Amino acid sequence: MAKKLTIALAGNPNSGKTTVFNALTGAHQHVGNYPGVTVEKKEGTLKYRDYEINVVDLPGTYSLTAYSIDEIVARNFVVEEKPDVIIDIVDASNLERNLYLATQFMELGVPLVIALNMSDLAERQGLKIDRDNLSALLGTPIVFTVATKRKGINELLDEAIRLVEGKVKLRRTTVSYGKEVQEEIRKIEETLIKDKRLIEKYPSRWLAVKLLENDSEVTKRIKESPYFDEISAAVERSVAHLKGIFGDEPENIIAEGRYGFISGVCSETVRRTYEIHHTISDRIDKVLINRILGLPIFLGLMWLVFKFTFKASEPLVGWVEALQEWLGNLLEGILPEGSAIQSLVVDGIVGGVGSVLTFVPIIFLLFLAMSVLEDSGYMARAAFVMDRLMHKIGLHGRSFIPMLLGFGCNLPAIMATRTIEDRRDRLVTILVNPFMSCGARLPVYTLFIGAFFAERMAGTILFSLYILGILVAILMAKIFRKYLFKGPAAPFVMELPPYRLPTLKGLLIHMWERGSVYLKKAGTIIFAGCVLVWFLSNFPWNPKYSKDYEVLIKQTEGNEEVVSQLENERAFEKLEKSYAGRLGRTIAPIFKPLGFNDWKISVGLFGGFIAKEIVVGTLGTLHSIGEADEESETLRQALQNEKRSDGSKLYNPLVAFSLMVFVLLYIPCVASIAVIKRETNSWKWPIFAAFYTTAVAWIVAFIVYQGGRFFGLGG
Ligand code: GDP
Ligand code: MG
Repeated sequence: MAKKLTIALAGNPNSGKTTVFNALTGAHQHVGNYPGVTVEKKEGTLKYRDYEINVVDLPGTYSLTAYSIDEIVARNFVVEEKPDVIIDIVDASNLERNLYLATQFMELGVPLVIALNMSDLAERQGLKIDRDNLSALLGTPIVFTVATKRKGINELLDEAIRLVEGKVKLRRTTVSYGKEVQEEIRKIEETLIKDKRLIEKYPSRWLAVKLLENDSEVTKRIKESPYFDEISAAVERSVAHLKGIFGDEPENIIAEGRYGFISGVCSETVRRTYEIHHTISDRIDKVLINRILGLPIFLGLMWLVFKFTFKASEPLVGWVEALQEWLGNLLEGILPEGSAIQSLVVDGIVGGVGSVLTFVPIIFLLFLAMSVLEDSGYMARAAFVMDRLMHKIGLHGRSFIPMLLGFGCNLPAIMATRTIEDRRDRLVTILVNPFMSCGARLPVYTLFIGAFFAERMAGTILFSLYILGILVAILMAKIFRKYLFKGPAAPFVMELPPYRLPTLKGLLIHMWERGSVYLKKAGTIIFAGCVLVWFLSNFPWNPKYSKDYEVLIKQTEGNEEVVSQLENERAFEKLEKSYAGRLGRTIAPIFKPLGFNDWKISVGLFGGFIAKEIVVGTLGTLHSIGEADEESETLRQALQNEKRSDGSKLYNPLVAFSLMVFVLLYIPCVASIAVIKRETNSWKWPIFAAFYTTAVAWIVAFIVYQGGRFFGLGG
């Protein structure tokens, strides 16, 4: 008995569908109508191998929206009748436009084979299509055909049968539409999956996309759902949110997403022997993703971002510093002199949390600049440019997006690796992500750069740290890929959405979303961390002093100078004898070969495990305690004057740089560790990450410091 098989032919008008249909079925055809509409339905049969195949010629369409009756008929046939295979006839000489329909079949999750028809024309036009790569990127079998000459027709049938028999081993892909839209799709899907009957019939993701697109047919279906109210409320919220951010209908954003996907696919798989460029985006891309210019342009733009951030935030930081000082003095006067509460509030909270808050303007401005690059569509290009480099280390550009996000904060960045389906790729990306310099390290850099480098160097030094982080990440990824997670990189599509002018609202929302994480952190974990550090550095409250200061001070009453000298000595001895002092002293020798053998910074680095900003918070607390004299100096000045036990200056530019390198690379913060645990679902990887990053940090800082000294830097 012959096995039965139904194949539906889909494709744009004039792609050669009818020609393929005729080549397949010959004279065995009949013409009818689709039920209820006057759209012609051509069907035919053929026997091939041990199959009896029924072929249906769907109406020619460019898309699968609900705007035209042809599209609705084609879509309903595919969804309701569930043919065994859909063959999408694509005009290979007009690939980008024709693949638009293919992306929608991919979204429907239907069994799909793509025929690159008119491949003779494509060749004559100088197009070279890398079929295997294209097939891997789309996740569908692809066959070159010339329907008019019957070329490739049997292969097409062979592929269809292989697909039905489950012999095709390709991973299906879909358009991602970017973080913002993705999130809304997920929210809508969450309401949709409550309606089990609906979900049995239609893929939830497809429904969600269609609802965002305001598809009238799907909306009609949803009206019958018992969960209609909930679903439509979610859709309305999402539509409003996306409109606010993009200043455009979600429908257009989604269409752009598909074109971006296709554009990315074609940039990787199609070579033209001569160029035809149409759109403005294409023209800009000719420069921005150019093989030679792409990388220098990316680096140049990043450098500008840091330059801008530093310059623009300078006056703002000054104001916040002044505010912090004013508040500290005010509270010091109000609270009882010499009490623990005065010390906690003034030194621990205003000194510690305040030092961290000084950097709020910088963080917000950096996020603002990054949002401009992201919302304009440039970041996607940066990922595309990096993709080529990433391939060399066995990863792909998709991994670069979480890395770029890591510049903001490693937590969302690590979570963003969920878009990477290959487990090995994902683990590598997670493990190297903490090297991407997040916003929390910025206060540390700013403090030390401000104190030890000339203003005109500031942007460049900062930039060099970010680049160092990227280089270390790339190097480690390569090592991991080679020894820990062997195997080829999975194919991925780098989407190239069209450029758009960012909306002010979108920029502000993005800046706020990321910046507020920092503020929230300052109010919670950093607050707690600073209180902890304050406690450690103030207790025991009354240590055993080497001299009886009380008596000595009483004896010298009246001699202001000697009294203040004694008070200073006492404060310092108290700090040295505190828990923090002892802890810092114990671990300080580890840092000796790195140039910062000092117990205060050791305590800071220890606190940095809670959150990297706490390095600054701790120094703020420790210095405001140690500073018992009237003339309060800023933390920056205090660091400039910090001395070693032999009286020489502790810091110089080389030591400061070595320290920043260490802070950049060492142990990810507690929250990152927790997220790595959650995302890898095991304790093995977070523990591994904590240790190997710290080892890498030590080694790199060692090389920087000792290398610098070798070349006579750092005096
Ligand atoms: P449909 O609108 O998709 O049904 O397209 P048709 O099958 O009617 O084909 C449109 C035109 O393209 C016809 O003139 C075909 O002869 C021609 N055609 C179809 N396939 C090929 C092909 O592979 N190569 C070339 N050069 N022409 C083709
Ligand atoms: Mg036709």
